[in-house]
Amino acid sequence: MKVIQHSPEKLRTALVSNSKTIAKLYSKYTEEERRLLEEGFHPGTPGSLFKPITVHSDSDWIPAHPEEPQDFETFYKDPYRRTPDADHSTIYLQTIGSFGEVGVQTDQYVEWLRDYCQAFFYGLSVNLLPAVTVAETGCSFRVNSNSHNLQILTGDLLRFLEKRKPKDAFCIVGITMIDLYPKDSWNFVFGQASLSMGMGIFSFARYDDNFYTRSYAGRLKKQIEAKPGAYSVFEGYYTPPITSTLLLRSCKTMTHEIGHMFGIKHCQWMNCIMQGSNHLEESDRRPLDFCPICLHKLHVSVGFQIAERYKALLLWMEEDLSQISRPEGASSCHASLSYPKPTEAFHASKLWLRRCLDLLEKH
Ligand SMILES: [Zn+2]
Ligand SMILES: [Zn+2]
Repeated sequence: MKVIQHSPEKLRTALVSNSKTIAKLYSKYTEEERRLLEEGFHPGTPGSLFKPITVHSDSDWIPAHPEEPQDFETFYKDPYRRTPDADHSTIYLQTIGSFGEVGVQTDQYVEWLRDYCQAFFYGLSVNLLPAVTVAETGCSFRVNSNSHNLQILTGDLLRFLEKRKPKDAFCIVGITMIDLYPKDSWNFVFGQASLSMGMGIFSFARYDDNFYTRSYAGRLKKQIEAKPGAYSVFEGYYTPPITSTLLLRSCKTMTHEIGHMFGIKHCQWMNCIMQGSNHLEESDRRPLDFCPICLHKLHVSVGFQIAERYKALLLWMEEDLSQISRPEGASSCHASLSYPKPTEAFHASKLWLRRCLDLLEKH
């Protein structure tokens, strides 16, 4: 295991920059906000809010995909990065296929994802487009010859999203519980995006704890021929059970991928949601939120008070408790339609957000 530790000077330059004009952007933060961001100059010191990146093996992202690290200045000067403006300030989520065994569960799950995104990209609106079935996208599909599960073709889905993208969209993100493939010769892909067009499609199928086991329920029992246009195979097809871990993984993937839409590249500074990930174990290791350098990139694109954003995220994580303590007399019919949000897996993040807020609110 190797720890990637940058010097405080290097991290300061990556965050603030040596250029006077760019450093001016940093001086807009309040003293309390700067105190929080500057915690990132010493990742890993006892009690620090941020940790250095640890490389566990050669199959981790950084050794497998050497990339130029992107500091704030490089990000800011990138002529191709996209920024939301008054006419393009909405993030659209498009679900494709089922997200749960029952309709109500599907609706609730995607609502949780939407609300989470809205807190994460604080200041922007996140809207759900009406759900579509696989058939409605008209995409090609196949049965994977190794894992024997259904897969849908990413290119077709991106073309579908392009037609579906509302005029005021900053970006449109398609999400599905069905596995994806980008071309015949590939085994699978977690997702595919067109950053210049603000579009992406991502699957959570492989975040099912059982996906890589023989007992995976998405394996088709009998040999099914995937005839073009014969979408009835998707009716009643297996979807992963909605667990706290699945919710956590989905929230992480979605926000990481939408982060790329702003032009934020993979983070190599410290532990951060924008770290690249080559495998599930590595994605699970990523924290839920941005490091100070990536937070500064989002901040300059959107503009928000850091404490307000953290409060919104914390509220989302604590909302399940308010649901459980619903006042007596609340309609039992309504209660049966409402599933408590499984946020146990967010516990460490909850504590982290509270520590950040304590620091921001200390005068
Ligand atoms: Zn990425
Ligand atoms: Zn980062």
